[in-house]
Amino acid sequence: MIVFPGDFLAHGEEAEGGANTVEREDDIYAAVMGEVVRKGRVVSVMSKKHICLPRRGLEVYGIVVSHTPSKAVLYCVPACVVSGKGRGLGFMAALEPRGMGKFVKDMRYEARIGDILFGQVVVSTREGNIISISAPKYGFIAVFCPKCRKRMVKKGNVFVCKCGNIERRKIARR
Ligand SMILES: [Zn+2]
Repeated sequence: MIVFPGDFLAHGEEAEGGANTVEREDDIYAAVMGEVVRKGRVVSVMSKKHICLPRRGLEVYGIVVSHTPSKAVLYCVPACVVSGKGRGLGFMAALEPRGMGKFVKDMRYEARIGDILFGQVVVSTREGNIISISAPKYGFIAVFCPKCRKRMVKKGNVFVCKCGNIERRKIARR
């Protein structure tokens, strides 16, 4: 479980505070952001070294949840979480035309709801996260047919559906 500074960890009578914890009125709270570790009676917080937070350069898998002409909104999971190398939380990010690596007039034709991509965080501020798929290794890895919702098959530079529909996407080359 991932906790933030000030999060309640345990009552004083049931545990002892270990590393990166503080005690207040016999209760134990997290002093830093990290993962809760319990060994016997001792509860402590592992520092955020292996925790993948939204930051510039972080690789993510993202699913498109909404789109407008100017941007697609994605729910992202850090790639290090998917691979099991780290722990982290999902977060929202925007994919804008400038993150596509080509001229894009309308994002609604480039990213449809339910599509899954592999990309990289290029901006991470309090205002939000922005991802890019412009590098060759980034792009869409799973696309669902907007007409019949079946998963489409990648063929060369396009995704093809059994119903005959063809969708063009920026494709990840790996
Ligand atoms: Zn179809």
